[in-house]
Amino acid sequence: MKTQLVHTKEELRLLLDKETSVGFVPTMGALHNGHCSLLREARKENQCVVLSIFVNPKQFGEGEDFDSYPRTLDSDFSIAEEEQVNIVFVPTVETMYPSGFATIVDVPQVAAPLCGSNRPGHFQGVATVVNRLFGLVRPNRAYLGLKDLQQCMVLQRMVKDLELPVELRLCETVREDSGLALSSRNQYLSEEDTIAAAAIYRSLKEVSEKYQQGELSSSRLVQFGLDILNESGAFDVEYFEIRTVPNLESIETLASNLSTPSSLSGYACAGAVRLGQTRLIVNILLL
Ligand code: AMP
Repeated sequence: MKTQLVHTKEELRLLLDKETSVGFVPTMGALHNGHCSLLREARKENQCVVLSIFVNPKQFGEGEDFDSYPRTLDSDFSIAEEEQVNIVFVPTVETMYPSGFATIVDVPQVAAPLCGSNRPGHFQGVATVVNRLFGLVRPNRAYLGLKDLQQCMVLQRMVKDLELPVELRLCETVREDSGLALSSRNQYLSEEDTIAAAAIYRSLKEVSEKYQQGELSSSRLVQFGLDILNESGAFDVEYFEIRTVPNLESIETLASNLSTPSSLSGYACAGAVRLGQTRLIVNILLL
């Protein structure tokens, strides 16, 4: 099998037209093991695996890192070959948003809290580009990382509401030994920041453990986590909250153990923290 690099939608459709089992992993590139875990899941379940790499201008706000976002196509392509990806789709901005493109996909309730309140328009950009990619790739299954929990919930709602013919697979977060979730933005962290970042996972684990031990007050659970974050003095906390899953509603008193094996429902503790110049989003499911 030879991994094919394609840039246009015509080449893409030509390669995909006869495929009946297409697994799709949308990314912005700068691939790491978190992305690879999605590719491996896709490889297990589909005859044809498509990886897209597109740094989507619509999901970056003013003053965010669109220009400096790491772009590493050569090494990404080698990783795709190692992971036996069939097609690497790298569209241009013009292919994704041709002149006259005017549609915005919005999932207002799920997109509003957490990152949505600090990054206006971000999830509209995400939902719009993923919907567009689904239209081009027409996958049977798409693989998303729970590392970006709110993104998963927004896209899950979009697929359900629009009855898009794709099954979403929400895949577990891949973490460093320190518990820090792998992210393309981790390369912005200094050595000192990377060491300090270990406190993030400790704080999330603390919230999860206290919940499992029977603490059901959202504010007390949050405080346990914040105490650990604040202790280190390294973080500027943008938000740190407990929300319901999948709707991301706020909650004062949690129920114990809502989860059922068949559906992802319950609670999550989610936050965004700044460490130096780098904004990291963090979450843990309380299931
Ligand atoms: P990105 O390139 O950051 O847009 O991410 C592309 C996909 O990879 C998204 O579905 C992310 O949630 C997923 N992803 C990124 N980091 C991780 C990680 N550490 N573990 C699992 N999935 C991840």
